[in-house]
Amino acid sequence: MNNILRYTNTKLQELLAENNFKKFNADQIFEWIYHKNELDFSKMTNLSLSLRDFLKNNFSNNLLTQLICQESADGTVKFLFKLNDNKTIETVLMPQSYGQSVCVTTQVGCNMGCTFCASGIIKKIRNLEVDEIIAQVYYVNQYLRKKYSGDDKNPKSRVSHIVVMGIGEPLDNYQNTLDFIEILNSPKAFGIGARHITVSTCGLVPKIKAFADLQLQANLAISLHAPNDAIRNSIMPINKAFPLEKLMEAVDYYIEKTNRRITFEYILIDNVNDSVENAHQLAQLIRGKNAYVNLIPYNEVRENPFRKSTNIDSFFKALKSKKINCIVRKEFGADIDAACGQLRAIREGIIK
Ligand code: SAH
Repeated sequence: MNNILRYTNTKLQELLAENNFKKFNADQIFEWIYHKNELDFSKMTNLSLSLRDFLKNNFSNNLLTQLICQESADGTVKFLFKLNDNKTIETVLMPQSYGQSVCVTTQVGCNMGCTFCASGIIKKIRNLEVDEIIAQVYYVNQYLRKKYSGDDKNPKSRVSHIVVMGIGEPLDNYQNTLDFIEILNSPKAFGIGARHITVSTCGLVPKIKAFADLQLQANLAISLHAPNDAIRNSIMPINKAFPLEKLMEAVDYYIEKTNRRITFEYILIDNVNDSVENAHQLAQLIRGKNAYVNLIPYNEVRENPFRKSTNIDSFFKALKSKKINCIVRKEFGADIDAACGQLRAIREGIIK
């Protein structure tokens, strides 16, 4: 049985019409689910009994099973969830000055094989369905509503920003990621503006171009992490398929098509990519682009040899001196294993 949270409003309309119900019933169902937070079909009292029966007989409505909820001193909350097939995924809530931001997972495991990343320790088992991605946001919304005692006027009581930066490569689960964004966006569902949504990719060039063609107003972040092909090949296998020249061409295409600024993420790893020379190479690589760089202190994963850079300040200053827009990203939840994939890998005994 398909979960009701899998459907965009348009897809639900089509399905209802095929089954001799009215298209506008989709709006009513969305209103119950996303605005009245009611998932029990039998309580959707403005629907006909036959429609309620149809929903009950054809759709599941369950959310995720929480296994772990860790709260960090800095306010970050990390959830480990169990899916119906007993696989586990992680979701992170990061309270920010501008709103409640949630980092969602899009795949069980990941095949991109970045050597520094805890997510890739577990190879991709499957893509998440749309409902499994939506349910992460739905669940955190419920958590926040409870925490703020249902005070709808308090902006802290709901999720306002989404980063698709959890486990998995979203552009390798492309259509589900697009449907997810559509449901987030829809005022009939979460009503989260595209500009509050950031999709992060390790650089699947054809998918970046396809994403650009949609001209969404969502933010795109590129996990760059290296200023040249030699370093990038050594830490990110995807670079062998789509080297920097091709990636930069896709980035230019994206900026041209969407008129949006792009974000480059750059993890600073000790003695791998953090020299002043590397900063100068990076500046050269992205010079003139409508972009900014998020410098990220590496979050150490005990089971791999990479360590956090001790050269963050000099790297930052070197980039600035070349007139590159950049910031050093605040670290969240380091005390609760909030680096991607760490919680899950620890629970499954893959790392300690
Ligand atoms: N597959 C997508 C999204 C998931 S990873 C992508 O590659 O962008 C989200 C970000 O966290 C990526 O930039 C990833 O490279 C980075 N990351 C992975 N492991 C990390 C670690 N141990 N410390 C800091 N950032 C990490």
